[in-house]
Amino acid sequence: MTTTQHHLDGAEFLTEQTKNLSKPTAPAALGETAERASKSNREVTDSVPYFQQWREAAHRVKQYAIANLDKLLVEFERNISARGATVLWAKDAAEANEHMLRIAREHNVKSVVKSKSMVTEEMDLNHVLAEEGIRALETDLGEYIVQLAGQRPVHIVTPAIHMSAADVGRLFHEKLREPYTEEHTALTDIARRHLREAYLAAEMGVSGCNCAIARTGTAVVIENEGNAGLSTATPPVHVAVVGIEKILPRLEDLPLFLNLLPRSATGQKLTSYTHLIHGPAPGRKLYVILIDNGRTNVLRDPAARSALYCIRCGACIYNCPVYRQVGGWAYGWIYPGPIGSILTPQLRGMKEAGKLPFASSLCGLCAEVCPVKIDIPHQLVHLRHRAVNEPSPMRSWTERLIWAGWAWMMGGPLRYKLAMTGVRIGVRLSRYLPWHPGKLGAWTRGRELPQVPGPDFRNWWKYNKSKYEP
Ligand code: SF4
Repeated sequence: MTTTQHHLDGAEFLTEQTKNLSKPTAPAALGETAERASKSNREVTDSVPYFQQWREAAHRVKQYAIANLDKLLVEFERNISARGATVLWAKDAAEANEHMLRIAREHNVKSVVKSKSMVTEEMDLNHVLAEEGIRALETDLGEYIVQLAGQRPVHIVTPAIHMSAADVGRLFHEKLREPYTEEHTALTDIARRHLREAYLAAEMGVSGCNCAIARTGTAVVIENEGNAGLSTATPPVHVAVVGIEKILPRLEDLPLFLNLLPRSATGQKLTSYTHLIHGPAPGRKLYVILIDNGRTNVLRDPAARSALYCIRCGACIYNCPVYRQVGGWAYGWIYPGPIGSILTPQLRGMKEAGKLPFASSLCGLCAEVCPVKIDIPHQLVHLRHRAVNEPSPMRSWTERLIWAGWAWMMGGPLRYKLAMTGVRIGVRLSRYLPWHPGKLGAWTRGRELPQVPGPDFRNWWKYNKSKYEP
């Protein structure tokens, strides 16, 4: 089978959907909330004296884990299977969805409760289940809101960051027939009331996994709302979908990540709940789907491999000036911001997402805040290089000709001089053109041609050096 992936349109940066964000209130809400979140997170991380050493240590643990992925994954499978879990491997989203549907049929599942999981977004799981007549309900408050609104998450940690309390109040009034309110506690109460019924009715709970510990065979899920605990423990069947890069070697490595992740994600010292799942509870079933979905492609490129160290804290996204302007949907797939710009082209391929590495000003803030020290700016440059050298939409003949001409021009002083003389003459003559140079394309439409400066330094020096030489 294939996944439906209705909304996966990563080919373009700035898609049609982005236009919704240009409503007067939306970008302001997004930019302001992102600014507030990044400020409070940085205050928390800066207050930890050893935060830089923690980052260094986390980088090394992930480096080891990714370098030894083959052995650690098998160790994890062996240990969690020994306590009664069923482990299934999926090379891509389609295979993971096949496993999911087979489990659902076997257990006669009609409704599913889901806790927030980006990897199930990769699988487009909700649509796949819906096509089989199975209702999947998101239980994380932000995910619940965007699901009700028929939208996709705008941020991986705070999916409804673009919506105000008034937006949510209107949504609950319209979709849930609740009295309008924009009071935060009242809104949370409404969501809680509706979700409680769903936990009790669901035959299957689906979660992601923040870390998978190889030595003990433990799936770790961390959360703040209690919804992941209810989704994984209430229904008789729990399916945990685990991206293969989530592996950690030992339980002793976990506290480091439990300290780093919430501080960088939400500015908390710890999340409210940490679930260590070692196996199924008595009388219940636990399935673990280990999914690749392009991750081994990332592993193949040593210069870009560290993208797999990402712990999905979202700090680089909050801090990205491009993201703050365009929002999460502009990136066309699941992962927005700097991490999306390095991960999506590698998971989905350059042909589909080769433009994303160019969606950055290379200011470097993302690398400064990343808790596992991924050198995102260098990866962006590396992937830009790949994007123009691999067969992809980035490699048009016009662009190749332009760059070949530029390379020829920069190849020797005489060529450079000749070209510059040509440019000067061309720009001077352009004012006599019978049409505006804006007709050359969109880029020139909003820009004036620069004034031709006086003589360049070489020429100036040629005629003036006598004044300065002793
Ligand atoms: S790349 Fe770093 S900062 Fe960005 S989401 Fe991943 S771990 Fe967080």
